[in-house]
Amino acid sequence: MSAPLLSLRGLSKSYGRIQANRAIDLDVAPRSIHAVLGENGAGKSTLMKLISGVEQPDAGMMAWKGEALALASPAEARRRGIAMVFQHFSLFETLTVVENLRLVMPGGRRELAERLIRLGREFGLEVDPFVHVHALSVGERQRVEILRCLMTDPELLILDEPTSVLPPQLVVALFETLRRLRDKGVSILFISHKLEEIRAICDRATILRDGAVTGTLEPRHHDAQALARLMIGREM
Ligand code: ATP
Repeated sequence: MSAPLLSLRGLSKSYGRIQANRAIDLDVAPRSIHAVLGENGAGKSTLMKLISGVEQPDAGMMAWKGEALALASPAEARRRGIAMVFQHFSLFETLTVVENLRLVMPGGRRELAERLIRLGREFGLEVDPFVHVHALSVGERQRVEILRCLMTDPELLILDEPTSVLPPQLVVALFETLRRLRDKGVSILFISHKLEEIRAICDRATILRDGAVTGTLEPRHHDAQALARLMIGREM
């Protein structure tokens, strides 16, 4: 593998007596789609919170392009080039798309709308910047969330269970967007528990069970049952 964009070594996090992440090792290559796979409670969200600066680890280290990385906040993660699309969207319903963007980034209405349209065309995320969020479908809202991240020019985009809100035809479109992003040099961390999706889209997968890594592999070279054994300790 080429020198990793992001490396985690021995990353651990507990909430009281619950050890949500146990000594996690993980390397994300540049220009790759890397899955973090695990069933409910395996520790995926906790790990993403550590990588996106929402929470801080109790032990272990992170490195970004070979240098030690300590993230005090999500804003700091964004400044370093790490952006996260959360499973539950955080857009203001009564504002337009571009007004939502103006809440979190500098720039005039017209300038932001133009960037949004350009990025939308480039990555298959077309959305009208002047429409109110309450009029958008779930798929369009997700596009806005992804675009909002892309406007910070990330090198790593984290998506938390992005297909859970989408009908099947939009999953195909999302995957096309992710491939385009990878081809333009953005790495993706793709959190999921859906084995077939991971086999379809991801270059590598790290599997978590009870907060610990049970394996890292190239999912397209393994069948779903092999992934299930690592994820839940048996076949499905
Ligand atoms: P899901 O898909 O259900 O979100 P997950 O794989 O993302 O699951 P986490 O949300 O990271 O798993 O949770 C890992 C463990 O840590 C679980 O036992 C969970 O109950 C616990 N946990 C997570 N966040 C907290 C918290 N803020 N306080 C206490 N326990 C927590």
